[in-house]
Amino acid sequence: MSIDTIRIRGARTHNLRNVDIDIPRNRLVVITGVSGSGKSSLAFDTLLAEARRQYIDSLSVYARQFFEQLERPDVDRIDGLQPAVAVDQRQGTHSPRSTVGTVTEAYDFLRLLYARAGDLTCAACGAAISQQSPEEVRQVIEQLPPATKAMLLAPLVRGRRGKHAEAIEQVRKAGLVRVRIDGETYPIEDAPELEPRKNHTIEAVVDRIVLREGVEPRLAESVRLALRHGDGVLVLAYQTPDDKAAGGWKERVFNTRYACADCGTGVAEIEPRTFSFNTPYGACPECDGLGAVEARGDVYPCEACGGSRLRPEARACRVAGRGIDEIVRMPVVDALEFFRELDPPEDRRPIAEPIVREIVRRLEFLVRAGVGYLSLDRGADTLSGGELQRVRLASAIGSGLVGVMYLLDEPSVGLHPADNDRLLAALRDLQAEGNSVIVVEHDEAMMRAADWLIDVGPGAGARGGAIVAEGTPEQVTGCEASVTGAYLSGRRRVWDAEKGDASEAAPAVAWLELSGATLHNLREVDLAVPLGKLTCVTGVSGSGKSSLVIETLAAALARRLHGATQRGGPYRGIKGLGAVDRAVVVDQSAIGRSPRSNPATFVGAFDEIRKVFAKTKIARQRGWKAGRFSFNTKGGRCEACQGQGATRLEMNFLPDLFVPCEVCRGARFERSTLAVRFHGKNIADVLNLCIDDAAALFENVAPVHRLIAPLVDVGLGYLRLGQPSNTLSGGEAQRVKLAGELGATSSNTNAGHTFYILDEPTTGLHAEDIRRLIGVLRKLVDAGNTVLVIEHHTGVMQASDWLIDMGPGGGAAGGRIVAAGTPIEVARCPESITAKWLQEPS
Ligand code: ADP
Ligand code: ADP
Ligand code: ZN
Repeated sequence: MSIDTIRIRGARTHNLRNVDIDIPRNRLVVITGVSGSGKSSLAFDTLLAEARRQYIDSLSVYARQFFEQLERPDVDRIDGLQPAVAVDQRQGTHSPRSTVGTVTEAYDFLRLLYARAGDLTCAACGAAISQQSPEEVRQVIEQLPPATKAMLLAPLVRGRRGKHAEAIEQVRKAGLVRVRIDGETYPIEDAPELEPRKNHTIEAVVDRIVLREGVEPRLAESVRLALRHGDGVLVLAYQTPDDKAAGGWKERVFNTRYACADCGTGVAEIEPRTFSFNTPYGACPECDGLGAVEARGDVYPCEACGGSRLRPEARACRVAGRGIDEIVRMPVVDALEFFRELDPPEDRRPIAEPIVREIVRRLEFLVRAGVGYLSLDRGADTLSGGELQRVRLASAIGSGLVGVMYLLDEPSVGLHPADNDRLLAALRDLQAEGNSVIVVEHDEAMMRAADWLIDVGPGAGARGGAIVAEGTPEQVTGCEASVTGAYLSGRRRVWDAEKGDASEAAPAVAWLELSGATLHNLREVDLAVPLGKLTCVTGVSGSGKSSLVIETLAAALARRLHGATQRGGPYRGIKGLGAVDRAVVVDQSAIGRSPRSNPATFVGAFDEIRKVFAKTKIARQRGWKAGRFSFNTKGGRCEACQGQGATRLEMNFLPDLFVPCEVCRGARFERSTLAVRFHGKNIADVLNLCIDDAAALFENVAPVHRLIAPLVDVGLGYLRLGQPSNTLSGGEAQRVKLAGELGATSSNTNAGHTFYILDEPTTGLHAEDIRRLIGVLRKLVDAGNTVLVIEHHTGVMQASDWLIDMGPGGGAAGGRIVAAGTPIEVARCPESITAKWLQEPS
């Protein structure tokens, strides 16, 4: 029994209500429920947290000291846990050196392939590289014109840290009298002290010679000696009479193992590190392996390496005629094609084939995960959260681990329904290899395809936290009590077609038109958005939606309407701005980093609430104004914690700990202020109310209610009014912003003519939440505003007045508007991939 299931008993993390549940192991399990119902509390804060804690507990005392102490989640016991791997969208800091290739390890195998089975060509003249004997080295040197000054050097340290003192000692011991450090020659006794943490190049000067006509008797011996000290590599620094006139020295490398048959130039030894832009062995020396250089605040692609980050020798190595830099620039789909067709020469096949298999495996998964349009050199820091998660998933599959519990947070984010099937197949593979795959997800297709479905709810916050239904998708679909089941069965819909096709509303009278957009893959796109309508931009992942809407249109509006200085994507022209007063991007970024901001302060309700407290009898008697009830200014707040409610304890070696303030016990206000009550609640009590309850409390105080009600409308009634902003999820932050806009709209000061842009607002939302969200968007439109959303949810598409479908594919196969029109018109468009999904009810 315990072998087949993960048994959770008495889980009480956050809002979970003493949950007992058995989750089948080695299956594809989907956890669903409305936003705030407790899905993450169950999957991440209970299961994952306990798996990590048990893992650390199992380590030796010595190993344990390197981990932070993990708190035990609030659960009685969990049996049958497996080692856990979380593949989420947020975690992990990615340096500018992380790329799709390095994250998936595909690049590690590419390096190995090039080092073991690549053809070397000469970086200088393109000819093939072969071995070179000391005799040949001598002959090449002797061909230099008479009167050339030559220095024969043995390289000891090539542009790296450490080993400097040893190298200089080696020169001394060899009885040589000069050493060259970073291109400067010194008598050995005058060699400078070197900083061991800095990169230096150190060469032993084996001989200095002025060449004469014909055979130079000393040369043969000096070449031999230099090659011996240089481990087969000799650097020749020379100055011909012509060079001297030009005032310079030249350098040439000889290598008894690899050298150009044509010009005799040697190359340093080829090894996997030669292809690593994270080490001095492979990094382009001009840009230090970053692929870009900074000048006067702007960033330009590095000219020396063409943005490839690699030194010329690495780029000169070829497999089937292609350099590693060319491979990583291709879209993954094309690279996959290349490796599938690759037919290595007979003698290299035993080495190449197993490596190619690993590369193909990883590329295949990237394609299956729906990100085959990305290239391996794409910086991880330029990927969206969903893309990064799918790239990580590719590396998880590539790792071939079994018996692992994978936890994923909405992997369908950003995926067009057309890409979803492939993602599902990939998750299936991961499971079929012998792993538990547990996914927090709202996508219907994913739910239907699961082996086991868990519906958490029924509501959010205190009204959630229970298991409403569990079982096969069929069982949950049939469950009357489950909202999820209601949607799965079609008993409930996010958008009722009976309400009328949105597109039958009055046609738009004015349009905003942007022409000639060309950023990234956009091909001279002309975009027309009807004003005063709800418009939805769709298209498969990578088709160019963000490039067009966020990076070009939103940036143009910010510049033209609000004087923003940042330049967006290029375009030819923009028309129709006269009918737009302001543009607002309602994204998922945090609403405030400070724990002092919260939903009440953000929507402005807290100011009004403080006025309510200032009007109470006691406040008036004591002469207290609204400021008395602020935790940001002196007066009413607790000074011990300066109104934070908590004090920070700095822990050596551990993250700072926040402990409730000893004086106010977390209330944030001083005692006499807390004596002031409104309907029995003091200001701290009010901040602790959930928004639903706060809306009820202030039902008859119009200025407060007007601002709080939109928070309920957007489905955030379960949040605490004073919940610190830094604890809100991206989706919650986005909806708080929307609520702020709704509140402002209702105040008349701000009615109509705003252009709202939202990027995937349904992220993290259950069908029931989406139903609410659509209502909110339509409300904004009814008030005379324009709403433009990037969205994949078919319900949102159907609820829109106008659809713009981009594609047809991702990357180079996209970048065009394939269809534009009412949802009904687009559904009839044969070229639109989206059309197929529009015909299905949602
Ligand atoms: P879901 O994943 O279903 O959206 P969560 O598990 O994130 O829901 O949240 C369930 C409830 O627990 C919500 O009321 C939320 O506000 C609360 N909650 C989430 N994280 C925390 C936290 N770190 N501290 C206190 N309450 C939390
Ligand atoms: P969508 O929003 O439809 O998923 P994007 O606009 O993000 O599509 O991407 C369109 C194309 O532009 C893709 O090929 C993507 O890889 C490329 N792209 C997006 N952002 C960048 C970037 N910062 N650097 C290089 N290419 C990018
Ligand atoms: Zn305090």
